[in-house]
Order: sequence, then structure tokens, then C-alpha cells
Amino acid sequence: MNAKADLKNFTLPELEQFLSGQGKERFRATQIFKWLYQKDARTFSDMTNLSKDLRCELEETAFISNLDATTVEVGRDGTRKYLFTFSDGEAVESVLIPDEGRNTLCISSQVGCAMQCEFCLTGTFKLSRNLTAAEIVNQVCAVRRDAPVTNIVFMGMGEPLHNLENVIRAIRILLDDNGLQFSTRRVTVSTSGLVPEMAELGRAVTVNLAVSLNATTDELRNRIMPINRRYPLATLLKACRDFPLPGRRKITIEYVMLGGVNDSLDDAKRLLRLISDIPNKVNLIPFNEHEGCEFRAPTQAAIDAFHKYLIDRHVTVITRDSRGGDISAACGQLKGKLVKQNRSDHP
Ligand code: SAH
Ligand code: SF4
Repeated sequence: MNAKADLKNFTLPELEQFLSGQGKERFRATQIFKWLYQKDARTFSDMTNLSKDLRCELEETAFISNLDATTVEVGRDGTRKYLFTFSDGEAVESVLIPDEGRNTLCISSQVGCAMQCEFCLTGTFKLSRNLTAAEIVNQVCAVRRDAPVTNIVFMGMGEPLHNLENVIRAIRILLDDNGLQFSTRRVTVSTSGLVPEMAELGRAVTVNLAVSLNATTDELRNRIMPINRRYPLATLLKACRDFPLPGRRKITIEYVMLGGVNDSLDDAKRLLRLISDIPNKVNLIPFNEHEGCEFRAPTQAAIDAFHKYLIDRHVTVITRDSRGGDISAACGQLKGKLVKQNRSDHP
């Protein structure tokens, strides 16, 4: 017997196909999608506008997955951190950040990360596995039961473009009018710079893109972000220029400031030059320290000078305060339940 299909792994067209393969009317897919995402149905018996026969038949071939948060921690600034444990024991974290009328949910796309950026706690754990589309959207479904979610950023654990197929599927569910109904303006994918996948993402869906640049020379970027050895700065910046942005939207350039490493005015100068022909806004993220990592946070003076240099040259800059620092929910501090392995392949 075939394993049952998790309905939350289907985009709407995929669900239509699944149902029509069973000789069902296609419009049933829209009804089911609305039950799953707009009414948060957890069982087929909740779906009262489907006939009893259809519900019974669905029970035979499909199931509805669900996630419940194992722990919710609330930081002093209102940041909420959720731990989600899957049936195989793996776990990821999501963080809800309230800010100026928005509630931004930072979701995870993988358990661990293969990119091994030197400054990132998630990166010190190897990739354990990709999340399914269902596991990605279920983070949103679960958090929405606790608090409203207005924006989604793929900035939790993992490199979303390294799990592209499932991330695209999840985005389609997030954006679908019959699904989670997020506007394309409110969904952002953050990448460390997987160039071919950036183009593929842009072809598949309309979303905002954030690129973790973090260094202004190949020499430094090679060292702190090994992915740069495959896609160096010039290649990455060309992919940014080529990324299809609707209207007047901008690419977010993320820049983690590492004290004494990439936080000088020379860096700011080079950064400005690198991104000048990309519609951009810059997100400065002061490094969040974590145990076992040699990097240090930048001084406030370095942050202010860097920020001012860019602002004075008409760049839109936001310096992120480290939200949720007291509950280890800030950028680069997420680790789910991962257990530290030896970095034997990265001496
Ligand atoms: N893998 C994706 C998305 C997750 S990381 C990416 O790298 O873009 C989200 C952001 O957190 C990235 O911009 C990353 O550079 C940043 N980050 C990682 N570790 C950090 C740390 N310790 N302090 C501050 N920012 C960090
Ligand atoms: Fe992975 Fe992003 Fe962390 Fe790099 S910064 S290790 S790509 S999660």
C-alpha cells in the first residue's frame, strides 16, 4: 500500500491533480485548501461542506499534518521563540518579532545548515535534513494560533535556497488567495548567495529577496562564508542585478557587522560601491555573540559610523537591534535541539 499523502505538502494545483487522479472534482481542492489554511482544520471531519463519502475516501489516501510548539519563550521586548519538534525527533525554531504594527515571523527551512558560515551558530551544525513544505507552512499555521502574523521572513535555521523545491512550494501556499493569503510584499527569502537557485526562485515566485553579503572582499567572504568560493562577489552581485523585482521594490542587503573584521569605514565605502547599481536597502546586523565563536560584536561607535556613512550617501539603512537576545532568539542564535558536532571538515 502506498503511504498516505500529507495534504499540506501540496500547492493548490498539486492538490487539484491529486484529487482528479482519484476521480474527484477539481473545485474540491479549493474547498480543502481553505479548510486547511483559512479555517485551520486539523481533521477531515472538520470539513463539513465535503460529503461524508469524500471525507472517508480522503482518510484512506491522505492525512493532515500539524505542528504544535513545544515551548514558547517570550523575551523582554515581546519577541516570541517557538520550538517545533518533528516526529523523527528533529527540531527547529521560529521567532515572532513584533515591530511597529507588524508581526514578523522568522521561519526555518532546514534542520542545521550545510553552508557553514563561520559566524553563525546554525552553521556550526551540519545539515541534518531539509524540511518538507508542510513542515515549513505548519510553523506559520501554529504561530498564527498564538498571535497574528503579518510578515514572513525565511531567516531562521537553514539556507532556504538549498531546499529550493520545498521552499517554493511553501511560498506558493503562503501566497495563495485560497491558502495563507500573504501578499508578495510580506514574504522575504534570505540567502547566503546560491546563485543559480536565486534565478530559479525569481522565475518561480514573486517574493522579496534578502542577500547576506557580510563582506566586501572575496578574500574575507571566502573565509567567513565558504559558499563564496563557489559564487564569488561579482557573480553574486550580477545575480542580484538580474533578480526580477516587481515595481520599485529593493533587494535587502544584509551585512553582519563583525567587530574589527568588516566594520571599518573602508568596508562601508566598498559596500557602497558594490551595491550602487542594485536597487537596495541595507540591513546592518551587529554580530550576536555565541559561545565557541571567536568573533565579537562591533562597538556602538563602529555601528554608528558605518550607518552614518551610508545614510549620508542616500542609502536606506536599518540597523537591526538584536531582538530577542535574552532568549537566544536573535539572528544566528537559533539551534533547535541540535547537538554540537566536531567541525572536522573545517579545521
Ligand atoms: N541562510 C540564510 C538565512 C538564515 S540566516 C542566510 O544566510 O541568509 C539570517 C541572517 O542572520 C543572515 O543574514 C546571517 O548572515 C545572519 N547571522 C548569522 N549568524 C549571525 C550572528 N551570530 N549574528 C548576527 N547575524 C547573524
Ligand atoms: Fe546557513 Fe545562513 Fe547560518 Fe550561513 S548564515 S550557516 S547560510 S543559516
